[in-house]
Amino acid sequence: MYECVECGYKTDCLFRKLSTEVIKLSHCENCKQPVDKYIEYDNILTGIDATLHKTQAYRHLIHNSNIKSTMKLWLVYLLCDVYVAWQSLKKMSCDDADEPYSEGVFSMLFLLAVVDWLWYVVVLFLLITLFTDVSTKDHYLRTLVLSSFGKLLSLPALIWTTMHENIYFILIQIFILTSNITALKGPPF
Ligand SMILES: [Zn+2]
Repeated sequence: MYECVECGYKTDCLFRKLSTEVIKLSHCENCKQPVDKYIEYDNILTGIDATLHKTQAYRHLIHNSNIKSTMKLWLVYLLCDVYVAWQSLKKMSCDDADEPYSEGVFSMLFLLAVVDWLWYVVVLFLLITLFTDVSTKDHYLRTLVLSSFGKLLSLPALIWTTMHENIYFILIQIFILTSNITALKGPPF
């Protein structure tokens, strides 16, 4: 089943093919708007709308797109977290900066990143269940992964940010949290 990006109404059809190159967007039975206008959008525009916290863009990504590799994306996020933690360790260390860290340190950082993610997933789930009217709990993990793309911003922060690095990382965390909450917003009925 697909979902109308405007109102969240369930539907089984996003568009009709009129010819090999022409499609006609289906309209929602509930709100009469096109079920998913992002079908005709470029991926970059969809990404910009997601960055701007538009719920419709997230509904498209979560319910109507054919992104299947959320597990791979999650692994990329974990590796980003590990790399950030590893760089922080390197800066704090008094040792020679070029000295490579052992596999044991990498494994420990990876394990910590997994525990950190699980902790975040559980706490956020409890918070939205107890204190908000966010109603989209279906596809919870998929929603969290797809809306946590802000984690990738950690890499340019490490490369280009020399001052105010901590503030930048805090802003990234806030951006990820607000993206997650926007994506988890359910239909308004
Ligand atoms: Zn609708």
